[in-house]
Amino acid sequence: MMADILSSDIKFLKGVGDARAALLEAELGISTFRDLVYSFPSRYVDRSKFYSIADLQGSELPALQIKGRFIKFYEDGEGERKRLIGVFTDGRLFMETVWFSKIKTIASIYKVNEEYVIFGRPSLYRGKYSIAHPEVERFDPTKPPCGLRGIYPLTEQLRKRGIGVRKFQELVGKLFELPGMDRVADPLPREIVERYGLMPFPEAVREMHLPSDQEKLAAAMRRMKFEELFYVELHILRFARSRGARTPGYVFPRIGDLFNGFYFRELPFELTGAQKRVLKEIRNDMRSGRQMNRLLQGDVGCGKTMVAFMSILMALDNGFQGAIMAPTEILAAQHYETISAWAGRLGIRVALLTGSTTAARRREIHADLLDGSLQILVGTHALIEENVRFRSLGLAVIDEQHRFGVAQRAKMWKKGVVPPHVLIMTATPIPRTLAMTVYGDLEVSVIDELPPGRKPVETFLRYDDNRMEVDRMIFSQLREGRQIYMVYPLIHENEKLSLKSLEEGRKRVEEVFSDWRICFVHGQMKPAEKDHQMELFVSGNAQIMVATTVIEVGVNVPNASVMVIENAERFGLSQLHQLRGRVGRGADKSYCVLMTHKNASGDTMKRLRIMTETNDGFLVSEADMKIRGPGDMEGTQQSGLAFNLKVASLARDGEILARARGAALEVLASNPGRLAPASRSEKTGGTLALSEESLVLTGYELARRFAHTVDWSEIS
Ligand code: ADP
Ligand code: MG
Repeated sequence: MMADILSSDIKFLKGVGDARAALLEAELGISTFRDLVYSFPSRYVDRSKFYSIADLQGSELPALQIKGRFIKFYEDGEGERKRLIGVFTDGRLFMETVWFSKIKTIASIYKVNEEYVIFGRPSLYRGKYSIAHPEVERFDPTKPPCGLRGIYPLTEQLRKRGIGVRKFQELVGKLFELPGMDRVADPLPREIVERYGLMPFPEAVREMHLPSDQEKLAAAMRRMKFEELFYVELHILRFARSRGARTPGYVFPRIGDLFNGFYFRELPFELTGAQKRVLKEIRNDMRSGRQMNRLLQGDVGCGKTMVAFMSILMALDNGFQGAIMAPTEILAAQHYETISAWAGRLGIRVALLTGSTTAARRREIHADLLDGSLQILVGTHALIEENVRFRSLGLAVIDEQHRFGVAQRAKMWKKGVVPPHVLIMTATPIPRTLAMTVYGDLEVSVIDELPPGRKPVETFLRYDDNRMEVDRMIFSQLREGRQIYMVYPLIHENEKLSLKSLEEGRKRVEEVFSDWRICFVHGQMKPAEKDHQMELFVSGNAQIMVATTVIEVGVNVPNASVMVIENAERFGLSQLHQLRGRVGRGADKSYCVLMTHKNASGDTMKRLRIMTETNDGFLVSEADMKIRGPGDMEGTQQSGLAFNLKVASLARDGEILARARGAALEVLASNPGRLAPASRSEKTGGTLALSEESLVLTGYELARRFAHTVDWSEIS
């Protein structure tokens, strides 16, 4: 291997030295040349031409430069709102530049009637353009225009201590002047670079920092995204494989009397095609000899509970027990009711175990689980307590997985010598690209079909001043005997405020709908009180439920036909979709009303409008991810996965991700031995395929570590 220039200490770069090296390390984690190479600009500006003020059009302008003179500076506003205005002209038209801080300094540095180049993003205010805090430079006719320039995300500390954008650019320039830089080793195998038509590494990193033009920059970007995603995928696949090979599972070869008896005689409805398909997938997993780890995604109301129950029957037919864990007591209770009704007809014993189960009852349950006379256990977190032991747990179903962390999953697995099969169910549909990555260690099944006869929930967007109209609609539904949900957002930063808005909402509802019984649920309530209030609604004794998002997951009240969501702009789209899923469960037409205020921003309205346009959870979820980025997606935060992607975006680069995954699969297939996990210690206990630590590495960090365990020259 040639001497690795990229591993050189950053202090040896010309213009750095000890003090700056310490600063770069502390602020940006840059300690080697390689770190600097991977510190890409966060955006680029086009300084290849001068704009004139007459060129400015529209409201979404990029940062740009204008040549001209200041004709005067003056201060405006008082106290907090004080600002400095510079009137700038390009010789033909005028515009304003504005500073909100450092007013004194700026007024003293810049002179009127001298030639400057100002640079910044013009924004439109009251029909006029202005630039806030522009970069200002003396115009220098001897300097050639510098084209595309990278802007780096630097910290306040760096700037204070002399490393601003320009200094940083200068350091990067010095780095790429070094003779070895166009010969550095490519972290991707040559074969992959060639086959996928990628820009070679030395050229790509140079273009990322010092782009020659838009086209080259785009190609460089593609290459770096590919590299990043390739390593993420390689990592995930590598661990997923070793888990697959490592973890034996119970073999359930039989479809027996319970399954068949239920299927042919007791099934209360015809299964949908999707339910049948998923049951087949689960059956194949459970007789394969490998432990099943399957994620079942399906929109609210698609019938996941039935799939869970019938999968448990497969375990029971083979002499094993089954468990279902739900995130809340109410949900666990609902599952218990549904499942014991079905199971009762087959003579199967089911029990419910939650935090409020009495000690005496617990002891019974514990004993019956151990001797095997209790076949199905339904419950909450209480299920994973140490003292809950099964004689032979064959299948554990976890409902609404985003409420459970990875750690709980692992606990479930520890319940036997051979881990039980695990089926995780979620109604938060995760777009394919994200699922492939986030749940790289899980197989994914999808129920993409609702039971027949479901009517989509009609969704409206209404402003506060349409409230009368909304009330009228509610009245007419109440008179027809329907029930209503009214949901208020939980304001995390300010729980007092959130309760206040909920209280006010309740007062109003009690006044307007005084003839009906109203129940009231919020997160700070004691569980017993909450359950009591929920029960009022579930049993139909209350017709209106005023609540915070505690009702989000899983409650099933088919008679409820209206969901009113207050301050809808405060919810994520996936969350709105979940809430909407509470209605439309019966035969009647249902409605969802999203309340927001008149002056909601354009983006907010765009987001909310998606809800009125589709009932498809996957479309909602994709749109949500595009808008918010996957970091915020429900289901990803708690899944324990936090890939800090530097250049790639799971939301936008699905295509590159798919190609990178393909390349990673090829590499694994062509050289499985070499790519086996480097050391056993990388694995966590249980059957979690990915170590917690490895999950927070970025693709590039993975690349760095991985480079030592693989010799690419041997692959081809
Ligand atoms: P989710 O997938 O949201 O958990 P559930 O399992 O609660 O959905 O099912 C929602 C409702 O649809 C339940 O009342 C259930 O009995 C009913 N259901 C499930 N599958 C079918 C089907 N194939 N045909 C008709 N109704 C069904
Ligand atoms: Mg459910």
